[in-house]
Amino acid sequence: MIIGNWKMHKTSLEASQFISALAPKITACNASVFIAPSYTSLYSACKTAEGTNITIGSQNLNEHLEGAYTGEISTMMLKAEGVEFVLIGHSERRQRYMETDALINKKMIRALQDDLLPVLCIGETEQERKKGLTQDVLKQQIKVGLKNIPFEDGAEIIVAYEPVWAIGTGKVATAQIAQDAHSFCRKCLKDTFNAPLAKKIPILYGGSVKPDNFASLIAKEDIDGALIGGASLNVETFSKIINLC
Ligand code: PEP
Repeated sequence: MIIGNWKMHKTSLEASQFISALAPKITACNASVFIAPSYTSLYSACKTAEGTNITIGSQNLNEHLEGAYTGEISTMMLKAEGVEFVLIGHSERRQRYMETDALINKKMIRALQDDLLPVLCIGETEQERKKGLTQDVLKQQIKVGLKNIPFEDGAEIIVAYEPVWAIGTGKVATAQIAQDAHSFCRKCLKDTFNAPLAKKIPILYGGSVKPDNFASLIAKEDIDGALIGGASLNVETFSKIINLC
């Protein structure tokens, strides 16, 4: 499973041109390919992706159904454009827009209630890692972020482990550091919920993934794919990573 997070890049025309160019390059791969463009590109991206193996999602949503929330976007609006998944709790939203685990949990529940596949993004900062707090942070983000998620009713989610120190910095985690964190996340899922669920939830790695470091990451037992920022903005680079699957 590969997800491209385009952040605040690409106009709607650029988004549809990108998807038209990417689709024929990835027909032979086994990966599920997801792209999260900006809100204004969602309609054109969804239309262009029709009939391809690319699924379109959004980078955020509002936790309320509707109302006086100027500048916000609801699940119903996203679904009307053809969106199928949503990134929740990306570190840029946690850090720059003060999103807390409690708010992120509300967004997870809203997405599931309205039939969008949520991708819970978690990860420690450099400072937290240096202080030896990585496991505490991941445990807390999983525990609170997934509170009251109706797994017993079949709720499906994706988790993306993205060490904040590796996002957009070129400092990719070594495959072993990533594997250790993924295996710890799976343990938390097992302890908080149950073993079959922990096995079933895909855990993606994110943080400076490039064609030359992806093979060693995806070879690890607990790494089920990648969430990719910078390298997803270029058709050649992104398709190279996808085709490594
Ligand atoms: C991201 O934004 O989720 C990300 C992983 O970015 P990059 O690949 O550029 O580090």
